[in-house]
Amino acid sequence: MTAAVVDRRGRPVAACERRESCAVCGDRRLRPMLELPRVPVHMGCTHRPADDDAFADQRWARCRHCGCLQLSALAPLDLVYQSQHNGAVGGVWARHHEALVALLASHGPRQVVEVGGASGALARRYVDAHGAVAWTVVEPNPTFVPQQPVRLVTAFVEDAVETVRPADMIVHSHLLEHLYLPRAFLTTMRAHARTGTLMVLSVPDLAALLDRAGANALNFEHTYYFGIPTLLWMLQDAGFAVEAMTRFERHSVFVTAVAEGDPGRAGHPPDADPGAHAFARFIAQSRRDAVALTARAEAFTGDVYLFGGHVFSQFLLGCGFPEGRVTAVLDNDPAKDGLRLYGTDLTVVPPAVVGATPGPAAVIVRAAHYTAEITQQLRALAPTAEIW
Ligand SMILES: [Zn+2]
Repeated sequence: MTAAVVDRRGRPVAACERRESCAVCGDRRLRPMLELPRVPVHMGCTHRPADDDAFADQRWARCRHCGCLQLSALAPLDLVYQSQHNGAVGGVWARHHEALVALLASHGPRQVVEVGGASGALARRYVDAHGAVAWTVVEPNPTFVPQQPVRLVTAFVEDAVETVRPADMIVHSHLLEHLYLPRAFLTTMRAHARTGTLMVLSVPDLAALLDRAGANALNFEHTYYFGIPTLLWMLQDAGFAVEAMTRFERHSVFVTAVAEGDPGRAGHPPDADPGAHAFARFIAQSRRDAVALTARAEAFTGDVYLFGGHVFSQFLLGCGFPEGRVTAVLDNDPAKDGLRLYGTDLTVVPPAVVGATPGPAAVIVRAAHYTAEITQQLRALAPTAEIW
């Protein structure tokens, strides 16, 4: 039976789509592993009433063939991505784009097709740093207006495959992990790319994220786990020869691969079981953490804030931290100021609010690789606040 999507009173509003076969290897044997009940399907903030929020159980399963952990029930895309929440503010993303642009430029592409790229940020940064290059962004939900020489095709790339053929470089950044059918996507890219075309991609370093207890590793957007061996296998399986792989700050992995050869010749997929076990450990550890934080909050007399108008806060609440104990959610994205964290009754405020709090205050920061820069910022804004 497939999972229902319900409103906050439990009334069905939609249904999840069943994942029929493994995202990585295509095997049809997906075995249930663990379930997280009633998770908000959207990971951002909203101005809409709480009655419009939707929730679904996260049903995690393991592939019998390759061991890949993945959601066996996929939430409707229009609910998952109902608003842009990736403001991509902060130092980590600026450094990420800079490093990726330098890698792209080292290959001197003449005609780039970027798949995804909603904000146009990578294209703009490349053009600003390295001058005019023919750069086409293929994106169904763009949030930018293109300026020469950047061109925009508003479509899923599967519906605009003719854009791929002229390219000597295909780029995608933090796209692959969002796809429900990544195998089909890579095979389509291979089928329409000329032999010799480079594909340069960036994906989150999921193993490192889980290691740092990042709730941003796996969720309704990132619906399957892949470590580096699995990622490289997926590329080979689709007909790409991997040329180079570099890690960016334990945050992302950059891979350069070249379209050559036929799909389906990569042999047996690597064992992805360690990822499934790491996720199970992460869930157990996060639930213990929520219990400990709850006790700490009960013993504390001041205001308690959560950092992040995003999955970090939703996940902590899902693990059992009481929403009623939270004064507000802090976020650096000005676009989220005053909005409501989806799936909760909590309002988002700028971090400076903590510094203006008259009594004692504490901020819970569980933000994986963003924790260091957030902590530094809070210490400057609110020197007397506790950071948990
Ligand atoms: Zn599999």
